[in-house]
Amino acid sequence: PRLSRRADLGERIKVSFEFFPPKSDEMESRLWETITRLETVSPHYVSVTYGAGGSTRERTARTVGRILAQSSLKPAAHMTCVDATRDEVDAVVREFAEMGVTRFVALRGDPVSGVGEAYRPHPQGYSNGAELVAAIRRIGDFDVSVSAYPEKHPESADFATDIDMLKRKVDNGATRAITQFFFDNDLYERYVERVRRAGIYIPIVPGILPIHNFGAVANFSARCGAHVPAWIAERFAGLERDPQTHALVASAIAAEQVLDLVERGIEEFHFYTMNRADLAFAICHLIGIRPAPEASAAAAA
Ligand code: FAD
Repeated sequence: PRLSRRADLGERIKVSFEFFPPKSDEMESRLWETITRLETVSPHYVSVTYGAGGSTRERTARTVGRILAQSSLKPAAHMTCVDATRDEVDAVVREFAEMGVTRFVALRGDPVSGVGEAYRPHPQGYSNGAELVAAIRRIGDFDVSVSAYPEKHPESADFATDIDMLKRKVDNGATRAITQFFFDNDLYERYVERVRRAGIYIPIVPGILPIHNFGAVANFSARCGAHVPAWIAERFAGLERDPQTHALVASAIAAEQVLDLVERGIEEFHFYTMNRADLAFAICHLIGIRPAPEASAAAAA
């Protein structure tokens, strides 16, 4: 049978989920509901983002700490180089390690003044993702993931420059790349071919963004160099005031994308959950990733 219809699909596929640190008590309780629900499908790991300029350092640490203390999940802490000296960054890595964190997602980050501004490294800081990977690996034998851009990073002059940075990150010890979200699987496949031709063999895990709010995704995409195809815009047209249909359409689009990637042989997925469980949980169900029977009984109760 087709790969996406094989009975052992759920056993072969690994998923991870990304969360952002909540800004209020209300958002925190919603995140915790999400985490509790997604924990039932036993993700490979979950990750917690790091805000601009270290502004959310405390909140990232608090969220990671709570995941360690109150769940069975393995959290990865995102880290950036923005507005911090090398010593400050190293101290944060050590703090995470002391908490019990063994996984990091290492990023350059964007200027605090906003995406689109030229990035200027802190004079005593790390200047890009590759330097940060090296720093983290100097501190300990951690699992370090990095970013990859199927449509190239907006600041990269061309794909060769872009992939050269990925190569430097791998040479410095990155073990996995997670892609920026994308909606055109052909672009992803072509990018992975380029990456392999450059002699990079780590997994390039597709980052899947279920579209909870099309308007927000369309605005955000332009800034991070991810292209929203016209056919996606067309599918959401007219649904601005119809959240129920919007959610059904979003789940159909994400399902179509993920099942097509499965057909292309992809067996690892990273979900940008936006701290919401529903779409990610449904897509996991489709690809055979299900709660253990006891867990699903408890969740239903
Ligand atoms: P790098 O890999 O260091 O560089 C990106 C590209 O820019 C390179 O390909 C390179 O060609 C070019 N470049 C870099 N430096 C130079 C230079 N000096 N000269 C010329 N070209 C250069 N942001 C956050 O703030 N917090 C997060 O938690 C976070 N998580 C993310 C998770 C994932 C999976 C992804 C894909 C992105 C995430 N981001 C996050 C966004 C990220 O910080 C931005 O995309 C940022 O603009 C680039 O960071 P990077 O690590 O990809 O950069």
